[in-house]
Amino acid sequence: MESWVITIDGPAGAGKSTVARMLAERLGAVFLDTGAMYRALTAAAMDKGVNLEDAEALLKIFETTRFQFEHDGQVLRVLVDGKDYTQRIRLPEVTEKVRYAACQPAVRRRLVQMQQDFARQFPKVVTEGRDQGTVVFPNARWKFFLEADVMERARRRQKDLAQSGLVVGLDELREQIESRDASDRNRTVGPLTPAPDAVVVDTTSLTVQQVVETILRTIGKNADGGI
Ligand code: C5P
Repeated sequence: MESWVITIDGPAGAGKSTVARMLAERLGAVFLDTGAMYRALTAAAMDKGVNLEDAEALLKIFETTRFQFEHDGQVLRVLVDGKDYTQRIRLPEVTEKVRYAACQPAVRRRLVQMQQDFARQFPKVVTEGRDQGTVVFPNARWKFFLEADVMERARRRQKDLAQSGLVVGLDELREQIESRDASDRNRTVGPLTPAPDAVVVDTTSLTVQQVVETILRTIGKNADGGI
């Protein structure tokens, strides 16, 4: 059976998750949300009172904690030691602190390994994150990098948060996004950057549907044919 990986990287709010999920569904592939892994580790560390700047202590969490990522229709359910963390990992207090785990080389090595192990179990994978095309799957069959204007990304984030009942101002969200982008771009390991062979798609004025169609066209998939 044919096997392939499609990577979708890009900054916060560029639409990666929704696009990757829809694409996976269209192509009969599994979807891997790697941000959820960094988020789950961060939330677990916060709840266990672990110092987020202590790489050793963060690594220990992998040995003492059970992380489960389950697909429940359109929703990715995240369980930490059997407890539902699906909503918790998206809370602003967690988002704000993910950078600590994300900039630790040893933590990244561990998560990269988990992501590669996951992908090996399935013939077709659509994965999204920051370093998927550069570090985790350098030989992926297709690579995409989604970008969007920062104000548009702030508006999208505001809408997402509103769905969970959280009201946050646009300027505050823009600042948070810019700060997270800077930290993602400037870290020494797995920084946010397009792979040299990635196709860059500016999603500012595109709907999710249009982005998915653009990607499908690029990979040469017509409406109902195979790849
Ligand atoms: O994509 P999401 O917003 O859920 O990612 C949360 C954070 O996790 C990012 O800002 C980034 O710091 C980190 N991350 C990462 N590498 C990935 C995915 C996410 O460093 N592959």
